[in-house]
Amino acid sequence: MTRPLTKAELRVILEEVAAEIRPRVGEGAVAAYIPELAKVDPSKFGMAVTTLDGAVVAVGDADEPFSIQSVSKVFTLTLALGRVGDALWRRVGREPSGSPFNSIVQLEAEKGVPRNPLINAGAIVVADVLLAGREPKAALGEIVGFLRFLADEPDIVIDRDVARSETATGERNRALAHFMKAFGNLGHDVDKVLGVYFHQCAIAMSRRQLSRAGLFLADAGRDPTTGRAVVTAERARRVAALMMTCGHYDGSGDFAYRVGLPGKSGVGGGILCVAPGRGAIAVWSPCLNEKGNSLAGSLALEALARRTGWSVF
Ligand code: GLU
Repeated sequence: MTRPLTKAELRVILEEVAAEIRPRVGEGAVAAYIPELAKVDPSKFGMAVTTLDGAVVAVGDADEPFSIQSVSKVFTLTLALGRVGDALWRRVGREPSGSPFNSIVQLEAEKGVPRNPLINAGAIVVADVLLAGREPKAALGEIVGFLRFLADEPDIVIDRDVARSETATGERNRALAHFMKAFGNLGHDVDKVLGVYFHQCAIAMSRRQLSRAGLFLADAGRDPTTGRAVVTAERARRVAALMMTCGHYDGSGDFAYRVGLPGKSGVGGGILCVAPGRGAIAVWSPCLNEKGNSLAGSLALEALARRTGWSVF
């Protein structure tokens, strides 16, 4: 491993990356199928890196909140593995889907068992796991509480307008959930499970908070600033492996090829990326490419990985 970059070196790199990528910001399209997300300013762009010592280096406003959407799936997966361990894999696979994030086609052939926990169908099963023995409000309390704990900030909240907007327009997710319920792969009422899923996607976080929350994945499951274990090293490695293989839907192979870091995108335009032994990176730029991943965000991470040499390969 090469020596860690100094904060000053990392700042220069982030500024160079921002200058390189800024002309591309606004290419692509915001996620219009969730009306509330369609209102977001398409010219937004910025990134924050939290390094293992807890320091934050950022370009753009690192404190501006955005809708984390499917980035939440990394954290609900971590919680579900904590609850049921390997039993989760009886209900969800661990293979890339090669299909869009909201696809239903594989579910019929594979008898209601989603390919992986990072596509919508898989995350809905994970939400069902987190509901066991409690009401949606308590399950959401656990998810938000986990993020507050990881980010070490008490003011992370669910954006009620985004949650309402998703609930009003989420017919496709309802179809996925009912389909899986028909195969016996959801234990709870579809409305309750989707209540958890829609609200977890509507959590708003800043780049600073998100990069801080992902830091345990960069340090073998520990919070490097306190030394406390969040999960075992083995579990952190496995969550990161799923991010690498499945975190960008049917664009996961291309992201691994270009960036070479475990990452998870959301249709709000955020991406959380893990650089093992270095830090965690949160990028936000709302316009998406044709696979539903942040266009400028993916390019920025590619440029960052090139300049830092942080690829895991
Ligand atoms: N809430 C979004 C949906 O279910 C999440 C998709 C994503 O971020 O990729 O459609």
